Amino acid sequence: MMKNILVTGATRGIGKTIAESLDGNIFAVGRNIELLKNYKNYFVCDLSKKDEIEKLGEYIIKNKIDVLINNAGEYIYSLIDKINYEQLEHIIKVNLEAPLYLTSKAVPYMKEQKWGRIINIGSISGVMGEACASLYSASKSGLIGGTKALALELAEYGITVNTINPGWVDTDMGNNSANEGDWTKEEIIECIPQKRFVTPQEIADMVKYLISDSACGVTGQSINLCAGLSVGY
Ligand code: NAD
Repeated sequence: MMKNILVTGATRGIGKTIAESLDGNIFAVGRNIELLKNYKNYFVCDLSKKDEIEKLGEYIIKNKIDVLINNAGEYIYSLIDKINYEQLEHIIKVNLEAPLYLTSKAVPYMKEQKWGRIINIGSISGVMGEACASLYSASKSGLIGGTKALALELAEYGITVNTINPGWVDTDMGNNSANEGDWTKEEIIECIPQKRFVTPQEIADMVKYLISDSACGVTGQSINLCAGLSVGY
């Protein structure tokens, strides 16, 4: 039977590639209704807004989601002494609170049917740390902790929970954050062992694997897909 797969941040970049690559009934989530209209099933939601995310929670329950892909995320490049409270609150809401909240709404149906897949898109910055990206790094590290705890809690129900940590990926976010930092894209590539950005398709292919029955024993893992960035250079 076709699985019901919900992907957040499906309007561009990694999320769009994931949504377009998977076999199943795709439920696309994003903020831009014009772009979401490309999908049969979609839900407009700003994940930083409590009333909107609560409605998305109801949508998840109603549509019996088998696979939850928490992909949407935001990046901020700033010295810690230059951040304000609103920025801190926003990043934690979108990158950490939203994935946990949506998981809490998807899990009851998954438990009932004794099968489910939860995949978070973290970042290598949550594994290694990234200077001037402490809010982002902290939010993505939080996903790794949550993933381990949830994998333990949900193991007996046939639900797996994993986080994929991309390195630099060729998307708007990857290219913009390269522009925001102190280094040029060429200098960044020089520091990546494989001397290249990862493609969104490589992330989508890893998601495909984690959803497959071959990956039923992979749970609680933090998988670095980063062209070698996590092991030094
Ligand atoms: P992107 O900026 O190209 O796309 C992000 C998507 O998330 C967009 O569809 C955007 O609309 C959505 N989104 C952002 N904030 C939202 C909000 N408040 N409510 C609803 N939707 C929101 O970025 P991407 O490169 O495709 O990133 C996807 C994921 O991969 C993110 O979690 C990001 O942190 C992670 N990641 C990206 C890179 C990279 O280099 N591109 C590296 C590591 C991790």
